[in-house]
Amino acid sequence: MGRSIYFFGAGQADGDAQQKDLLGGKGAGLAEMTRLGIPVPPGFTVTTEVCNAYYASGKALPAGVEDEIKAAIGRLESLRGAGFGSPEAPLLVSVRSGARASMPGMMDTILNLGLNDEIARGLARRTGSERFALDAYRRFILAYADIVLGVPRDRFEEALGRARRQAAAKLGVDATRLNSAELERKVPDSQLDPESLAALIQRQKDIVLGATGRPFPDDPYAQLWGAIGAVFDSWKNHRAQVYRKMHDIPEAWGTACTVQAMVFGNLGDDSGTGVAFTRDPSTGERRFYGEWLPNAQGEDVVAGVRTPHPLSRPGEGGGADDESSLEARMPAAYAALVEVQGKLEQHFRDVQDLEFTIQQNELFLLQCRTAKRTGRAAVRIAVEMAKEGLISQREAILRVDPGSIDQLLHPSIDPSAPKSLLARGLPASPGAATGQVVFSADEAERRAGQGRAVILVRSETSPEDIHGMKAARGILTARGGMTSHAAVVARGMGKSCVAGCSAISVSQGRMAVTIYDDHGRATGSITVKDGDLITLDGGTGTVYLGAVPTIPAALSGEFEELMAWADAVRRLRVRSNADTPHDARTARNFGAEGIGLCRTEHMFFDEERIQAVREMILADGELGRRRALAKLLPFQRSDFVGVFREMAGLPVTIRLLDPPLHEFLPQDEAQLQQLSRATGVSAEDLQRKSEELAEYNPMLGHRGCRLAITSPEIYEMQARAILEAACEVAAAGIEVEPEIMIPLSMTRRELALTRALVEGVAEKVFAEKGRRVDVRFGTMIELPRAALRAGELAEEAEFFSFGTNDLTQTSLGISRDDAGRFLGAYVEAGIFAKDPFQSLDVPGVGELVEIGRDRGRAARPGLKLGVCGEHGGDPSSIAFFERAGLDYVSCSPFRVPIARLAAAQAALAAEAARGPRATD
Ligand code: PEP
Ligand code: MG
Repeated sequence: MGRSIYFFGAGQADGDAQQKDLLGGKGAGLAEMTRLGIPVPPGFTVTTEVCNAYYASGKALPAGVEDEIKAAIGRLESLRGAGFGSPEAPLLVSVRSGARASMPGMMDTILNLGLNDEIARGLARRTGSERFALDAYRRFILAYADIVLGVPRDRFEEALGRARRQAAAKLGVDATRLNSAELERKVPDSQLDPESLAALIQRQKDIVLGATGRPFPDDPYAQLWGAIGAVFDSWKNHRAQVYRKMHDIPEAWGTACTVQAMVFGNLGDDSGTGVAFTRDPSTGERRFYGEWLPNAQGEDVVAGVRTPHPLSRPGEGGGADDESSLEARMPAAYAALVEVQGKLEQHFRDVQDLEFTIQQNELFLLQCRTAKRTGRAAVRIAVEMAKEGLISQREAILRVDPGSIDQLLHPSIDPSAPKSLLARGLPASPGAATGQVVFSADEAERRAGQGRAVILVRSETSPEDIHGMKAARGILTARGGMTSHAAVVARGMGKSCVAGCSAISVSQGRMAVTIYDDHGRATGSITVKDGDLITLDGGTGTVYLGAVPTIPAALSGEFEELMAWADAVRRLRVRSNADTPHDARTARNFGAEGIGLCRTEHMFFDEERIQAVREMILADGELGRRRALAKLLPFQRSDFVGVFREMAGLPVTIRLLDPPLHEFLPQDEAQLQQLSRATGVSAEDLQRKSEELAEYNPMLGHRGCRLAITSPEIYEMQARAILEAACEVAAAGIEVEPEIMIPLSMTRRELALTRALVEGVAEKVFAEKGRRVDVRFGTMIELPRAALRAGELAEEAEFFSFGTNDLTQTSLGISRDDAGRFLGAYVEAGIFAKDPFQSLDVPGVGELVEIGRDRGRAARPGLKLGVCGEHGGDPSSIAFFERAGLDYVSCSPFRVPIARLAAAQAALAAEAARGPRATD
């Protein structure tokens, strides 16, 4: 272990901004600000290594660290001309947590440490305010008791209420019938007089004695050791653990602990405290922005009891609040703050989030860190900073989290709106949506037709629900994972979806919701009925009760600029999964460079077509099937014409039929009867046929190219539709690039047979039309065997597209439709870092991709390789596909911009990993 203590003060610091790992963000920021000559109260940081050693030795500070801390306190004393534990000139300190990555509010902080009765009297003499000294003392006892001694704050509520009533009597306020909130409003903390405070302090100490069996510690050093231990302990408190899991922060990092001389923002009207941002963190606008409270300590701002005031005077035209701004009330301190913020932003070359205190007109900075920001703000800030010359275009690309730009593409929940949490599920498709709950697709369509906003709630969706999904604002399912039908279809539509929400169960027109507390324990349940309002946040997987206000999506000029910069540096091409001309247009508008997957079966569900599809499935012989297929041909052809037109000049990969046929059959009695009337086949016969087609394991059953081995006429019809459409569009002078793709192949022979079939059709169509178009033939790699035998498959296929949804399902042996039930527990237990249907399992499935790549390219140099599973839109999976040297990724239209940015970041990371290039 290196040194344990890093001191900062009087313009000098042992540490600097580079040492976040060791000093935490807070300690590193304070050291750097001190070096920059910015006014920072002196102090020192105990390193994260000490925190880790503390845990390793069963929660004890390593030998020698106490002495080092005492020496550092000595330096503080001489800098401040005060003594720790001295009643004459008391030195009080704050003890603050700070990890490498900011974890706002997750860990603990103690202020005003170093007080006992005698020192409090000394502080009163020194500051000339007994009220101030006693208020600091009672706040300290409260925080220390809660955080260090484990006596929860609410145990002190009653004592505080008594103090307020005592003060109320003196102020002549009738408090008899006021509840605690009203009482606090009538007698705020600042109105507690010394006598009530002294009585409160005594009662607080009695409560501590009663609860712990020991008197409140009077010795400042005993207080200090307790506080440092508690800060380290807070690294492993429940909320910090939950936060770390959400943000992938390793437990091994530990937290640092900073001990710093106190400055007081509550020493009167010439004091105050606040927070500031060097630019607006919600819009990104370049304006100094923040809030402050006069005569207050930091915790008052956080507590939110008093309403803070703006820092700056309102712009042109003024406003009612003109006089409450810091600019108006303390112009000199405000000017100093403006100078400091400018200096910090220039120095760190990014937006800073600052905490400051003004003690009797003198400004002190207590924290600076890189500001958190919305996706919208991130884009604007990155682009404007690049234009200002503060950062390069490449840095601008790396500054924006690709996942966060979802907020620009979809409506999002207003972060400041009050909301009531109902349940959590998987973040299946981003965007916020509010509507009435409906439990069937037909009802969703009916009510949407009346102009109502609806949320379709189902146990899980099936292709039959597509019209209801289209009509709904959002979709909520109890079952299913990130690649379930609901998730994939919703993403394709750009619609909000929360899937796999296991807290809900849906039956008989009601949804029962189990309510969980923060610890995951069930605490009760609620029933949500048809017509009740709920709000979904598909970006986080959260469901709220009632309507929560949302912010509409809006693409900005800065967004287009950033995308153009990203396009200039990326290597991976980005295509889109799109099934209809409408989706194709959306994808192209978002910058897609082709279609990587057109799932033809999605075209089968339209009302006019499904009947013909069912006739085809139920037909007894080939002839009957061909007759039904002939009815489908014109529909398919016109869809392909539309898609080719939208994608003029770009490649379009069309996959031939994939799902098992039983998926298209009637799902209920009414549909069965309808089909019986239309076909003249008895309902019993239809029922029997359906049962014949049912499979135990349809995902591993008669699907994909296996359908073509038994019924080649299906692929024949589809190939004909594609090629006739291609000839028609080409005849209109529009460039077409069709690619025909075979799903779920595993052997060379399967490909050879389907290829011969497609080529046979092609020759016929070209002869009929009197023109040829270039068409490529390829396959999906969705089975481990296909990846392993890729060399043979590449002899037949001109391109591979890794279908990583099925490849994940078949490699892991985990059904993608049932994964939602237990994968959460796998992630929780650390078996998978992330849901493997969301973020590629690089060591396992990734290796199959690499094997497929190597063996495929060895057999056919230049073999084109893409990905069309949901991973094609996931930034960390894209980083792998870049490293793996694939040619393109394909994702749902709304994820195209995310993929473009992620691909650019991956390219920059790959470039950095190769190291600086030798100069020419
Ligand atoms: C896949 O399996 O990755 C794929 C894209 O196909 P689907 O999701 O339609 O099975
Ligand atoms: Mg598949």
